[in-house]
Amino acid sequence: MPSEIRVRIAPSPTGDPHVGTAYIALFNYVFAKKHGGKFLLRIEDTDQTRSTLDSEAAILRALHWIGLTWDEGPDVGGPYGPYRQSERTDHYRSAAVDLIARGAAYPCFCTPERLESLKAAQRAAKQPPGYDRRCRSLDSAEAQARRASEPHTVRLAMPREGVTRFVDELRGDVEFSNATIDDQVLLKSDGFPTYHLANVVDDHLMKISHVIRAEEWISSTPKHVQLYRAFGWEAPLWVHMPLLRNADKSKISKRKNPVSLDYYRDSGFLPEALLNFLGNLGFSIGDNREKFTVAEMVAGFDWKKVSLGGPVFDLAKLTDLNGQYIRELSVEELLNRLHSWRLSDEYLRRVLPLEHQRIERLDQLIPATSFFFSGDLDHRPVLGELVPQGRDGASTAKVLADLVEALDNVRPWDKQAIEPVCRNFADSIGWKTKELFMAIRVAVTARTAAPPLFDTLEVVGKELCRRRLRSAAEMLRTATP
Ligand code: GLU
Repeated sequence: MPSEIRVRIAPSPTGDPHVGTAYIALFNYVFAKKHGGKFLLRIEDTDQTRSTLDSEAAILRALHWIGLTWDEGPDVGGPYGPYRQSERTDHYRSAAVDLIARGAAYPCFCTPERLESLKAAQRAAKQPPGYDRRCRSLDSAEAQARRASEPHTVRLAMPREGVTRFVDELRGDVEFSNATIDDQVLLKSDGFPTYHLANVVDDHLMKISHVIRAEEWISSTPKHVQLYRAFGWEAPLWVHMPLLRNADKSKISKRKNPVSLDYYRDSGFLPEALLNFLGNLGFSIGDNREKFTVAEMVAGFDWKKVSLGGPVFDLAKLTDLNGQYIRELSVEELLNRLHSWRLSDEYLRRVLPLEHQRIERLDQLIPATSFFFSGDLDHRPVLGELVPQGRDGASTAKVLADLVEALDNVRPWDKQAIEPVCRNFADSIGWKTKELFMAIRVAVTARTAAPPLFDTLEVVGKELCRRRLRSAAEMLRTATP
């Protein structure tokens, strides 16, 4: 074991805070604490078109909500910063130049058009996609001269024969045949690195001892191993955690399971119950015990207790565990939890203006606003109202499911941003806005009369709205023969 344990999570700020990020973060955190090491958070925002600061803030907030803290990161600083890759581009550029000098990478002058037609030809010939390495054989003096004036990427010169081996803590020896691995782009023509280069350079500079990440990255690891070798750096130890799965064993996806941490917060899961639940996925503390704290997990942690058999993210199990945690709270603690959830003055101040003018007695408030304080709703009683007159259940189900995708990129989630997306969506499918808006209202509130639609969507929150739209669609789909 290396003398200093340093581990990290490296989320890309391109979407909502994902349960998978919390899962990987938890195991990194626990491993670091077990060995008195450090846990870092690094933002991998090399994809300039998809990364946003809103997404970064949402990820940090959600990880804090669940109860994880890090020793170094963009918000807390640390000795190896900056911890945001967009602020570290000089490191990657000089690393790429260094790799070229070492003969482990080469400049590639192929145009996007050439790469596109290469791809099309490979597709037509049913060959696996990949770069044909044309620029790899350029004369080095010529390549050197063209680098100064022509746009180019930098590619990894993968060995063409043999295998790349590494040891995975959970899987033992893993090997990939080099011939199957593409000459990966390391530096894009705009001078920004790809994930592979930035990830390896930073793990080295940040002195990461163990890379603990999701299984989906394992096919990248041989490229990373080659990069460490080419730089002459010692590689970290590798741990690829099993992928989380839906109940049908497919890779966990937002189509089948809520994956945003905000969904769990807003529908009333306790962070410690969710963490405990994540800790049970692929890990057993022993004695068939499923309920344990993070501190207990740290005390009992060992990679030998992690198994690879595709852990299933089972919402019913989580709900059951959450119930156990709730029952153990004192009434006073429960009250505090409710206050920090949606019974906060802050949230009530957003809900009240929407009903204020519509009630005549105080006792009408709670029934009128119950959908602001619920997670999932039962759409059965309003199934008929979901479908606009003259439309059918199956097409309405598709519309609602497609709308969920259209709303995915609305960030920040406020009415100014939501409304135009819904209007354009209605246009694009040839529905009257009135038809679509009623279907949305019924899906999100399970009633036909509710406060103004876009205010309602804003206050209910993105993840609950999307979940309800999806489950209304699902309900229609199963109800329609
Ligand atoms: N940026 C990658 C992600 O989004 C990091 C993967 C890794 O840990 O190497 O998960």
